[in-house]
Amino acid sequence: LSVAGERIGTLCLIDPKTRQLDDAQIKNLKDFALLAEAYISMRGQTAQINQLQKVLGSEQRRAMLDPLTQTWNRLGLSRLYESWKAAEEKGRVSIGIAYCDLDHFKSVNDRYGHAVGDQILQGAAKALGGALRDGDLLARFGGEEFVALIKLESVLEIQRIGERLRAAVENATELMLPQTISIGTAVLDNSESFEQALHRADQAMYQAKRNGRNRVVSAAPFPNRDAMLAVSADQQT
Ligand code: GH3
Ligand code: MG
Ligand code: MG
Repeated sequence: LSVAGERIGTLCLIDPKTRQLDDAQIKNLKDFALLAEAYISMRGQTAQINQLQKVLGSEQRRAMLDPLTQTWNRLGLSRLYESWKAAEEKGRVSIGIAYCDLDHFKSVNDRYGHAVGDQILQGAAKALGGALRDGDLLARFGGEEFVALIKLESVLEIQRIGERLRAAVENATELMLPQTISIGTAVLDNSESFEQALHRADQAMYQAKRNGRNRVVSAAPFPNRDAMLAVSADQQT
């Protein structure tokens, strides 16, 4: 079993009778190991474990995890967003998004090789996860991109949390090489879809790249329908 790139132990099955495992049984054993690794890497993150357990069978859970970084994958992110959304409609918390993209990551692979690149990805995931509160969630959205979903008590909080995520990567001591990250943040508006909010955060992230990388840019609020109607009414008078 490895967690965050470190070998931590072995998963053993013991039977008093000697037997040969067939291919399907070996595959099952590997699946068990993957689940064990995911649970261990999430220890302490009780809220995430609760979220994980709410999702049905182990097959489905496995399909929602990224094996390299042991964070949620894209499917996990959208499933958990739906469950957050349902809860959010009852309570009154806003949802913040931080779209994070490692800076100049291709050159890490080019210079030091893919294995080093993989370790940096694992370390960055750990640093980002550590900078989030219990109950917030982190997903690997693609190659070297991560998306954090953050429960906000006030919409103004998102900028500070984005900055905390950025600093966590810059100051991470367990990374083999210095690495920075550019972040775009957005606060979900009731009148937009999750995809629209992700897109706004992604655009803000690109602005952070253009502004020089290793920084956080907040997207402007979603131009919701009421605000647009107010503006067009203004223009008519
Ligand atoms: P920018 O600052 O503009 O984001 O530059 P960049 O080099 O990070 O951007 P680009 O999108 O050109 O490169 C992303 C690189 O991420 C390309 C690919 O080699 C690397 N990558 C994607 N997935 C993995 C992975 O699973 N492991 C490793 N080691 N590298 C990966
Ligand atoms: Mg990228
Ligand atoms: Mg990048």
